[in-house]
Amino acid sequence: IKKIGVLTSGGDSPGMNAAIRSVVRTCAYHNIECVGIYRGYQGMIEGDFIEMGPRSVNNIINKGGTILKSARSAEFRTPEGRKKAHENLVKEGIEALVVIGGDGSFTGALMFNSEYNFPVMGIPGTIDNDIYGTSHTLGYDTALNTVVDCIDKIRDTASSHNRLFFVEVMGRDAGHIALNAGIGAGAEEILIPEEDLGLERLLESLQKSKASGKSSSIVVIAEGDKIGKNVFELKDYVESNLPEYDVRVSVLGHMQRGGSPSCFDRVLASRLGVKAVESLLDGVSNFMVGLKNDTVNLTPLVQAIKGKSEIDRELLRVSDIITT
Ligand code: ATP
Repeated sequence: IKKIGVLTSGGDSPGMNAAIRSVVRTCAYHNIECVGIYRGYQGMIEGDFIEMGPRSVNNIINKGGTILKSARSAEFRTPEGRKKAHENLVKEGIEALVVIGGDGSFTGALMFNSEYNFPVMGIPGTIDNDIYGTSHTLGYDTALNTVVDCIDKIRDTASSHNRLFFVEVMGRDAGHIALNAGIGAGAEEILIPEEDLGLERLLESLQKSKASGKSSSIVVIAEGDKIGKNVFELKDYVESNLPEYDVRVSVLGHMQRGGSPSCFDRVLASRLGVKAVESLLDGVSNFMVGLKNDTVNLTPLVQAIKGKSEIDRELLRVSDIITT
């Protein structure tokens, strides 16, 4: 392999730039060329490429988002779209791809590999941490820190006014952000899709904490939680059943996806970038690089896509014990 292409695809996450930087510099270290592909698979179809050397990734390790931009490409889902993409890669002399993204991006990479036998490696980039085969995805740690910081601020106002706050956090169908940030921010209750607390138990728990002398409360809710109501309906439900509570809702939204990556995400991105490039150079393809027991490891892309990233049962127990 003489030339590797790198792209970011799907939702952006903090740490993607640090991963691009690592991929580019690992290529330079091994004396091979590196090409940045703009806007994920859409840029591949349009031939939107840029030669990248060690100096083209100066001062990006600390930046959120992705300098290569990201996109969702409907055209890449079609054989015609992937054919155009392949022709562009061949024309450019690109012989392998590093795809930084989520499970959709990995599915596209596998599809591309099966049609053209093109070497691909995935780096998991999403704040949701919902990818099998890695304890941490890029951006997850930064998002946790952002959420904890926000909840700390909300707590200041909650306790000044004796209020109950429902704070909705991201995570799609997974409760990793809610559970970890909820514990870290000292939430009174954490609602996640993996565990159905039930409305009755939520009311009981809130009544109990009021009776025990708590004057304010924070309840963290994962956006994918299936308690049966959205967060605003939940507020109405609780207020009508527990009139003693003055309830406010805060939906944290996209701020969770932005910001300067944490040190953890920068180091993780650097490690995963090196491993992705060196694996390709070793002739490995169709794997995702990830982290297990603080060791960089490889998981077949097909497993990363199909497997479910389980919620940490020990953390659930910790949360049950310390939120009472
Ligand atoms: P996020 O976790 O942020 O959603 P993602 O990588 O899962 O990231 P998707 O929008 O699902 O994001 O996928 C990104 C892109 O991957 C799609 O826009 C499409 O171009 C490509 N892709 C996804 N699924 C397929 C598929 N089945 N076949 C071909 N390409 C696909």
